[in-house]
Amino acid sequence: METISIIDSKNHVNEKVKIGVWLTNKRSSGKIAFLQLRDGSAYFQGVVVKNNVSDEVFQLAKEVKQETSMYVTGTIHEDSRSHFGYEIEIDDIEVVGESENYPITPKEHGTDFLMDHRHLWLRSKRQFAIMKIRNEMIRATYEFFNDEGFTKVDAPILTGSAPEGTTELFHTKYFDRDAYLSQSGQLYEEAGAMAYGKVFSFGPTFRAEKSKTRRHLIEFWMIEPEMAFMHQEESLEIQERYIAYLVQNVLDHCDYELDILGRDKDVLKRYTELPYPRISYDEAIKMLQDSGKFPEVKWGEDFGSPEETYLAEQFNKPVFVMNYPKAIKPFYMKPHPTRDDVVICADLLAPEGYGEIIGGSERATDAEYLEEQIKNAGLNLDDYQWYLDLRRYGSVPHSGFGLGLERAVTWITGEDHIREAIPFPRLLNRIYP
Ligand code: ATP
Ligand code: MG
Repeated sequence: METISIIDSKNHVNEKVKIGVWLTNKRSSGKIAFLQLRDGSAYFQGVVVKNNVSDEVFQLAKEVKQETSMYVTGTIHEDSRSHFGYEIEIDDIEVVGESENYPITPKEHGTDFLMDHRHLWLRSKRQFAIMKIRNEMIRATYEFFNDEGFTKVDAPILTGSAPEGTTELFHTKYFDRDAYLSQSGQLYEEAGAMAYGKVFSFGPTFRAEKSKTRRHLIEFWMIEPEMAFMHQEESLEIQERYIAYLVQNVLDHCDYELDILGRDKDVLKRYTELPYPRISYDEAIKMLQDSGKFPEVKWGEDFGSPEETYLAEQFNKPVFVMNYPKAIKPFYMKPHPTRDDVVICADLLAPEGYGEIIGGSERATDAEYLEEQIKNAGLNLDDYQWYLDLRRYGSVPHSGFGLGLERAVTWITGEDHIREAIPFPRLLNRIYP
């Protein structure tokens, strides 16, 4: 008899198998018990018929508690009524680990309670579906960039300087000097691009975001591609192909999970249709002003969440907003060739209220210009000498972008809050568990 995973049931119909499972729920009558089972690969039902098993096994089926771990042996049958499509008719149960008073019961719990029990909440069906989709997006990311000829270059987490300014920075001691937790791997990816052409990083980034929103984590994972000999237009094409690839792979490989979440697949399919619309920041400001809904909005300001939501709603697809004012963007972005008030950049705004999922730009190539920018930004020039070297020795046009993985997961899964897009979220008021 073979030991299998629940997900492999379809290959073992009418066969006798053994599976290691946890009990998520149960109901029973005098003659039959239905055990809801999970093993991390899927969820399905075990049926225990009193007349077909020993008295001990039937008694155990009636008494076993939520989240008890056990081996069940039995025969796989098709089960057209269930979402999964298969069930196991159980002959024998062997308890592995007892479970008493599991805190997360099938009734409704508040968010704080669930967050306090995140280490257990991860076992729930919706959380399972979100984490499997997150995993698929990571897998598809490596596949996409590998197929496109990118090399993964890992950026450091501990850094001696601060690319995005100093307000949201986590400070730590590095022996007897100061260090910071990385807010972005970008500057290091630029060095990588000058060494290996097309590169990307995937790692954790840290921002002491003081505002409480549904889109900001304190610790989040970012995918940061950087491409040498590439202007912004070509970078935008890579970005939209990458996003469409993520969505398509989730559609192709996570049908079961999307069904668990009740995510509308036709809506997702629309996001695989390219190209995505492109508008300028100037046009975006005009759209917001003409809408009559944002009387306050003025050229020169960054968009808040309601503005981003409104803009993306006008297109029903992700939309690139290009060329923001120089004053609200980081020092390294390439100045516009004919206007000195904007830079060559784009944010990709996701529809359905999810806002910015990508920030990217062409990078400034001139060492003297960058020196000025670094000084103007109030940063310490000594910290950036290595970065300026990239312009001193064979500078080339290059572009790159950063995708916040959890923002993209929240959007593709259709969740309300980014805290559910990462196994153990770090939030303004939470670092436990
Ligand atoms: P926002 O304006 O939403 O704070 P940002 O302009 O600070 O975003 P970037 O610095 O361009 O964002 O970072 C690149 C990407 O990283 C963003 O497009 C977003 O997907 C993601 N991101 C940024 N901050 C966070 C955060 N606190 N939590 C999760 N993802 C984030
Ligand atoms: Mg921010």
